[in-house]
This record gives sequence, structure tokens and C-alpha cells, in this order.
Amino acid sequence: MSSEQSVKKAAELLRQGASMLSESCPICNSPLYKLRSGEIVCPVHGKVIIARDEDEEKRLKRDIALDYVEQLLVELMNNVVEKLRNDPMNPDVILQVIRYLDSLERLKRVKDFARAQSK
Ligand SMILES: [Zn+2]
Repeated sequence: MSSEQSVKKAAELLRQGASMLSESCPICNSPLYKLRSGEIVCPVHGKVIIARDEDEEKRLKRDIALDYVEQLLVELMNNVVEKLRNDPMNPDVILQVIRYLDSLERLKRVKDFARAQSK
């Protein structure tokens, strides 16, 4: 998301009655907003949970970062998959899709591993 988009999103949050907090997003350092519902959100990353201690903060940071990587990989893969529509037999494009799928599979393993460890 561009900084212009995140400024727009922040303005939208304020219009909806959210209030700006003194805490900032652990990933992008944008100021966080508290919604009327009590949820805390980053204009870039969406819902964020504020940690109670250092361990929890580390865990949350990692989870947010991994979720973001996954979201990005899926987005990028979708762009490549669209290319297949016009050129279904293009070996380079097929290879790229396979690489994204490999990355997603690996990411899933990393997530499972990380979550199992933090229990
Ligand atoms: Zn953020």
C-alpha cells in the first residue's frame, strides 16, 4: 500500500469515529487507531493486537509479518497466473507459478512450526 493510500485509510478511520493512539504498528510504525468497537487497527496492515509483554509482542510481530508475506505472495502469483490466460504453455510463466506455490508451501511450514513452538 502506498503512503498516500494509508493516509486516505487513516482519514477514513477518523471519519468513522476512530481515535489515534500513541502506540505505533510493530511492522510499519504507522500510528495505530482504536475503532469504536474497541478493535485496534493499522491503516496499512488492518487489525493489530497490542501485546501485553515482550514475548507476546515478538510472537505477534512474527505472525503479522508472515501473514503479510502470504498475502503478498498470493497477490503476485495472481498477476502471473493472469499471464497464463493468453499464453497457457509458456514454460517461464508456469515455472514462476510453481515457484510461488513452493514459496507458499514453505511459508505454511514456517507458520506451523512457529505456532507449534509458541504454545
Ligand atoms: Zn502497519
